[in-house]
Amino acid sequence: MNRNIVIVGGGHAAAQLCNALAEGGAGARVHVVCEEATHPYQRPPLSKSYLKNPAEALQLHRDAPWYITQGIQVHLGDRATHIDRSARKVRLASGTEIEYESLVLATGTRARTLPQLEGPLANVMSLRNVADAEAMRARLRAEGGGRLTVVGGGFIGLEVAATARHLGFEVQVLEAASRLLSRSASPELSAIILAHHQQMGTEVRFGVRIGAARIEGGRVLALEVDGVQEHVFELLVGIGAVPEVSLAQEAGLEVANGIVVDEVMRSSDPAILAVGDCSCFDYRGQRVRLESVQNANDQAKVAAATLLGKPAAYHPTPWFWSDQGGLRLQMVGLWRPGLQAVARPGPAAANGMSFFHYDGELLVAVESANAPIDHMMARRLLEKGASPTPQQVADPAVALKTLL
Ligand SMILES: Cc1cc2nc3c(=O)[nH]c(=O)nc-3n(C[C@H](O)[C@H](O)[C@H](O)COP(=O)(O)OP(=O)(O)OC[C@H]3O[C@@H](n4cnc5c(N)ncnc54)[C@H](O)[C@@H]3O)c2cc1C
Repeated sequence: MNRNIVIVGGGHAAAQLCNALAEGGAGARVHVVCEEATHPYQRPPLSKSYLKNPAEALQLHRDAPWYITQGIQVHLGDRATHIDRSARKVRLASGTEIEYESLVLATGTRARTLPQLEGPLANVMSLRNVADAEAMRARLRAEGGGRLTVVGGGFIGLEVAATARHLGFEVQVLEAASRLLSRSASPELSAIILAHHQQMGTEVRFGVRIGAARIEGGRVLALEVDGVQEHVFELLVGIGAVPEVSLAQEAGLEVANGIVVDEVMRSSDPAILAVGDCSCFDYRGQRVRLESVQNANDQAKVAAATLLGKPAAYHPTPWFWSDQGGLRLQMVGLWRPGLQAVARPGPAAANGMSFFHYDGELLVAVESANAPIDHMMARRLLEKGASPTPQQVADPAVALKTLL
């Protein structure tokens, strides 16, 4: 009987899944279908060190010989185009068909676009993969300092903004909302991030409405910003990402803001699992979709356990980081509006600060800026379900480890 485990997608979740299945002795059952031409690699450096340093190489999770040693068959540069659920087969763009006993969708996200800037335009960039990062690295270097407009004040836009400033660019961030990272970070942390970017010399504008684009010779020359035509030199569209769910939708799986999975990563078809950025799941009574390395890795481990016949439920303590110039942001738990923020000063030399967010007496999330030790301790507090009092966490003389 066919016992193949087919993984569609070649990102963080796929890499971690290969690892866990190989450790569980199932490597020889695995096929990985990867539309990119590269073995799975680390995505976070793409908007940070990789962009800054032209000599930096791509960091692969595992090199090609490792997959061969484990018996894992990797189909590079080939895209899964159709799932036949009744025959349990996946069809690839090359025409290859692979039968599966279990299928895992790890298709990630794709960059959200602006309709007026669709199609290939030489000076319009987005950043999801190594091809995007290479193109951007070349453009930022070729310009040797110039002007970058970033549409969207999200994590990727802000990381690139900081890198471009470092490379000598004039940078402008155009944000539609009234503050940075308004959906994922508290107003307190937003204010610190804004001050940091302004200190670096970046212009940040809020409440911005983007209108029509003037396009000539395959370049955008100007963009209507709040009704006024403004010249554009280099432009990054950083307005978030949408889950890549087209295969799942076509196959009739339940899809909301992502492929809906249960606590052991099974989709509405128990032979098909989904993990990483493309999946959504219940977290404390709410359906969420997370875009983070932590979530991709941990869901992949849970999926591997399910596939190996030892299911164990996913109950995460979500965490995330972002580096923006000299600012290291680390978050644990999920911030939401309506929580009570308690500030805790961090290391003075680094201008560190953390915000502990409470729902009544319950500690729900902690955000840190240049306070890595407080972040690590906060992670342990939340993992244990501990809720120290606001008075305790506000006092920097009280070491967090004594509250565990
Ligand atoms: C520039 C950048 C910086 C980031 N920085 C951070 C950070 O600092 N901290 C953090 O926690 N997270 C960060 N993230 C987010 C993190 O990288 C993602 O959460 C993580 O990569 C999700 O893993 P994934 O496997 O679900 O999806 P991905 O890693 O996106 O991989 C999905 C893969 O599936 C492939 N694919 C899609 N459809 C098909 C198909 N039909 N057939 C075959 N292959 C297909 C895609 O080409 C892609 O290679 C960053 C992301 C980016 C893009």
